[in-house]
Amino acid sequence: MITEVLTANQLKKEAPVFGQLSFDNHEQVVFCQDKDTGLKAIIGVHNTILGPALGGTRMYDYKTEWDALNDVLRLSRGMTYKAAVTGLNLGGGKAVIMGDPKKIKTPELMKRFGEFVHTLGGKYYTAEDVGMETSDMDTVREVTPYVTGISESKGGAGNPSPVTAYGVYMGMKAATKFAYGNDALSGKRILVQGIGHVGEELVRLTSEEGANVVISDINEERLAEVSKKYGVDIYRGNDLYSETADIYAPCALGATVNNDTINRLKVKVIAGAANNQLADENIHGPLLQKKEIVYAPDFLINAGGIINVYAEIEGYGREQIIAKTENIYNTTLDILNRAKATSITTNAAAIGIAEDRIAARKKQQ
Ligand code: NAD
Repeated sequence: MITEVLTANQLKKEAPVFGQLSFDNHEQVVFCQDKDTGLKAIIGVHNTILGPALGGTRMYDYKTEWDALNDVLRLSRGMTYKAAVTGLNLGGGKAVIMGDPKKIKTPELMKRFGEFVHTLGGKYYTAEDVGMETSDMDTVREVTPYVTGISESKGGAGNPSPVTAYGVYMGMKAATKFAYGNDALSGKRILVQGIGHVGEELVRLTSEEGANVVISDINEERLAEVSKKYGVDIYRGNDLYSETADIYAPCALGATVNNDTINRLKVKVIAGAANNQLADENIHGPLLQKKEIVYAPDFLINAGGIINVYAEIEGYGREQIIAKTENIYNTTLDILNRAKATSITTNAAAIGIAEDRIAARKKQQ
């Protein structure tokens, strides 16, 4: 999901390159171009102190090259924190390919991109993101081993969405314990916005525990199918954000906690899979804190997907993937307690834990 894309004017600051707004001590940024295939890509390596930078490749028809640069810088930084707070020995990276995947994506272009990834010698591992399919990662694998998320038949870890949903479920239970004193979801009214790959599995897990789940989506067919399958209600009002409930689980779009919605929210807990749920973490984090809404940081609780691809690098089996994902429960509780004890936002507490881990490793090096 492309959110918070800054305008070219906002990006053009006095310092021509390193002064760009989204630069945050990124180690390396690689611009890749190939005339024959039409490839134009940027690989952002934010930080490799904990391990090789891992993050997906997003293919999107950016309006300007500045937008693409901003996206890769912002997303790669996010990956550093996601991996660090989850306890993985991975750094943060991301890649963007400019252009409409439906129009210009070809196996030749993907191979050329893979060759550029290969030139980094394992400093950056790529994976699937918006605009990419598992088959594209298989194509990249033909030219470099530095790719994850390949098909199970080719030795990959398979679909990450069920693991992501399980991590979100763990984070949701931890946030519920923090807010209500126990982590039972039974009887809790949960609004699940977006019932795609992750959302549907979250509906399964929560409804099986006895939660009173209400689903919302723009896809009517999916609504009917998921409602029937799990016996859950469909939201039929016109303002989901104003709905009285215990938990709001954003599993569709980013930036749904924004100036427009924040005062309407009546839930006690926000815990979902979508990336970048807070439109502006510096504004909406403190506002949620003031409203005493417990926010489980998105990049922490949706880390099941990265745990799943990390397994490919480490050679983990299913049990280790599940154990690491279950640990999201403990990490979420730690972060919520730390935020409360130090009167900071939960997002800031999560970033603090990630930064502490990176600093400790740096000292040992
Ligand atoms: P998906 O595309 O399978 O599902 C998204 C669902 O949201 C679709 O059913 C779509 O119809 C619905 N939707 C779109 N706009 C909506 C709107 N305005 N209101 C309600 N519903 C709307 O995506 P997914 O793989 O389930 O991922 C969901 C979110 O979690 C995304 O933000 C994604 O970036 C994030 N995420 C996913 C993974 C993963 O492993 N798949 C990992 C980390 C983060």
